[in-house]
Amino acid sequence: MPERAPGHRNNPVRRRSSESDLSLMEFMREFPDDAACLDRLWRDRFAPDGHTAFCPKCERDRRFHRTKTRASYTCDSCGLHIHPQKGTIFERSSTSLHLWFYAMYLMASTRCGISAKQMEREIGVTYKQAHKMMKRIRTLMGRRRDTAQRRRRG
Ligand SMILES: [Zn+2]
Repeated sequence: MPERAPGHRNNPVRRRSSESDLSLMEFMREFPDDAACLDRLWRDRFAPDGHTAFCPKCERDRRFHRTKTRASYTCDSCGLHIHPQKGTIFERSSTSLHLWFYAMYLMASTRCGISAKQMEREIGVTYKQAHKMMKRIRTLMGRRRDTAQRRRRG
Protein backbone atom coordinates (compact mmCIF):
# COMPACT_ATOMS: atom_id res chain seq x y z
CA MET A 1 0.00 0.00 0.00
CA PRO A 2 1.42 3.41 -0.93
CA GLU A 3 2.18 5.58 2.07
CA ARG A 4 0.95 8.76 0.51
CA ALA A 5 -1.21 9.75 -2.40
CA PRO A 6 0.50 10.81 -5.63
CA GLY A 7 0.86 14.53 -5.99
CA HIS A 8 1.71 14.94 -2.34
CA ARG A 9 5.39 14.33 -2.65
CA ASN A 10 6.30 17.62 -1.07
CA ASN A 11 3.79 17.32 1.68
CA PRO A 12 4.15 13.87 3.20
CA VAL A 13 1.55 13.02 5.79
CA ARG A 14 3.68 10.54 7.67
CA ARG A 15 6.44 12.05 9.72
CA ARG A 16 10.01 10.91 9.24
CA SER A 17 11.40 8.64 11.89
CA SER A 18 11.36 10.10 15.39
CA GLU A 19 11.30 8.84 18.96
CA SER A 20 7.59 8.22 18.56
CA ASP A 21 8.21 5.48 15.98
CA LEU A 22 10.00 3.35 18.53
CA SER A 23 7.91 0.48 19.79
CA LEU A 24 7.91 -0.37 23.47
CA MET A 25 9.92 -3.52 22.73
CA GLU A 26 12.51 -1.52 20.83
CA PHE A 27 12.66 1.02 23.60
CA MET A 28 13.28 -1.65 26.23
CA ARG A 29 15.93 -3.28 24.07
CA GLU A 30 17.73 -0.02 23.48
CA PHE A 31 17.35 1.30 27.03
CA PRO A 32 17.22 -1.70 29.36
CA ASP A 33 18.58 0.17 32.41
CA ASP A 34 20.08 3.34 33.85
CA ALA A 35 23.52 2.54 32.43
CA ALA A 36 22.18 2.39 28.87
CA CYS A 37 20.42 5.74 29.33
CA LEU A 38 23.54 7.32 30.77
CA ASP A 39 25.55 5.98 27.85
CA ARG A 40 23.11 7.59 25.43
CA LEU A 41 23.48 10.97 27.20
CA TRP A 42 27.26 10.55 27.20
CA ARG A 43 27.32 9.88 23.47
CA ASP A 44 24.83 12.62 22.63
CA ARG A 45 26.55 15.30 24.66
CA PHE A 46 30.23 14.43 24.80
CA ALA A 47 31.50 11.32 23.04
CA PRO A 48 29.78 10.29 19.78
CA ASP A 49 31.91 7.12 19.61
CA GLY A 50 31.31 6.34 23.28
CA HIS A 51 34.99 6.63 24.25
CA THR A 52 36.61 9.80 23.00
CA ALA A 53 35.67 13.18 24.43
CA PHE A 54 37.30 16.54 24.86
CA CYS A 55 38.92 16.75 28.30
CA PRO A 56 38.91 20.34 29.59
CA LYS A 57 41.77 19.56 31.98
CA CYS A 58 44.07 17.93 29.40
CA GLU A 59 42.77 20.46 26.85
CA ARG A 60 42.59 17.81 24.14
CA ASP A 61 40.59 14.76 23.05
CA ARG A 62 41.14 11.85 25.41
CA ARG A 63 39.82 8.37 25.96
CA PHE A 64 37.34 8.04 28.82
CA HIS A 65 35.95 5.05 30.67
CA ARG A 66 32.78 4.61 32.70
CA THR A 67 33.36 5.36 36.40
CA LYS A 68 32.34 2.27 38.36
CA THR A 69 30.71 3.80 41.42
CA ARG A 70 29.33 7.05 40.00
CA ALA A 71 27.18 8.21 37.11
CA SER A 72 30.18 9.68 35.34
CA TYR A 73 33.01 8.99 32.88
CA THR A 74 36.69 9.33 33.78
CA CYS A 75 39.54 10.65 31.64
CA ASP A 76 42.09 7.83 31.17
CA SER A 77 44.96 10.32 31.34
CA CYS A 78 44.17 12.76 34.16
CA GLY A 79 41.23 11.18 36.02
CA LEU A 80 38.80 14.06 35.44
CA HIS A 81 35.12 13.07 35.81
CA ILE A 82 32.47 14.19 33.36
CA HIS A 83 28.86 13.83 34.50
CA PRO A 84 26.58 13.50 31.45
CA GLN A 85 23.50 14.48 33.50
CA LYS A 86 24.99 17.79 34.60
CA GLY A 87 23.13 20.76 33.15
CA THR A 88 20.23 18.61 31.92
CA ILE A 89 16.69 18.19 33.24
CA PHE A 90 17.87 14.92 34.84
CA GLU A 91 20.44 16.57 37.07
CA ARG A 92 19.88 16.11 40.81
CA SER A 93 16.62 14.25 40.21
CA SER A 94 15.60 11.54 42.63
CA THR A 95 13.90 9.76 39.74
CA SER A 96 16.10 7.25 37.93
CA LEU A 97 17.35 8.04 34.46
CA HIS A 98 15.61 4.94 33.17
CA LEU A 99 12.23 6.23 34.38
CA TRP A 100 12.92 9.63 32.86
CA PHE A 101 13.64 7.98 29.52
CA TYR A 102 10.51 5.87 29.80
CA ALA A 103 8.46 8.98 30.58
CA MET A 104 9.93 10.68 27.51
CA TYR A 105 9.13 7.62 25.44
CA LEU A 106 5.52 7.65 26.67
CA MET A 107 5.12 11.34 25.87
CA ALA A 108 6.70 11.01 22.44
CA SER A 109 4.66 7.96 21.49
CA THR A 110 1.41 9.64 22.54
CA ARG A 111 2.42 13.02 21.13
CA CYS A 112 2.22 14.39 24.68
CA GLY A 113 -1.35 13.11 24.92
CA ILE A 114 -0.78 11.37 28.24
CA SER A 115 -2.19 12.76 31.48
CA ALA A 116 -0.15 13.26 34.64
CA LYS A 117 -2.47 10.75 36.29
CA GLN A 118 -1.59 8.09 33.71
CA MET A 119 2.09 8.94 34.03
CA GLU A 120 1.85 8.56 37.80
CA ARG A 121 0.52 5.01 37.35
CA GLU A 122 2.89 4.06 34.50
CA ILE A 123 6.15 4.99 36.14
CA GLY A 124 5.18 4.77 39.81
CA VAL A 125 5.97 8.28 41.01
CA THR A 126 3.69 10.69 42.88
CA TYR A 127 1.24 12.85 40.94
CA LYS A 128 3.27 15.93 41.81
CA GLN A 129 6.47 14.34 40.52
CA ALA A 130 4.76 13.15 37.35
CA HIS A 131 3.42 16.64 36.71
CA LYS A 132 6.84 18.21 37.22
CA MET A 133 8.59 15.67 35.00
CA MET A 134 6.09 16.16 32.19
CA LYS A 135 6.49 19.91 32.34
CA ARG A 136 10.26 19.61 32.03
CA ILE A 137 10.05 17.06 29.23
CA ARG A 138 7.58 19.25 27.30
CA THR A 139 10.01 22.15 27.50
CA LEU A 140 12.84 19.90 26.32
CA MET A 141 10.82 18.41 23.45
CA GLY A 142 9.59 21.84 22.37
CA ARG A 143 13.13 23.10 22.26
CA ARG A 144 14.23 20.11 20.18
CA ARG A 145 11.39 20.62 17.73
CA ASP A 146 12.34 24.28 17.32
CA THR A 147 15.93 23.33 16.59
CA ALA A 148 14.86 20.70 14.06
CA GLN A 149 12.58 23.16 12.30
CA ARG A 150 15.27 25.78 12.17
CA ARG A 151 17.66 23.20 10.69
CA ARG A 152 15.14 22.20 8.03
CA ARG A 153 14.51 25.80 7.05
CA GLY A 154 18.19 26.69 7.05
ZN1 LIG B 1 42.11 14.55 31.06
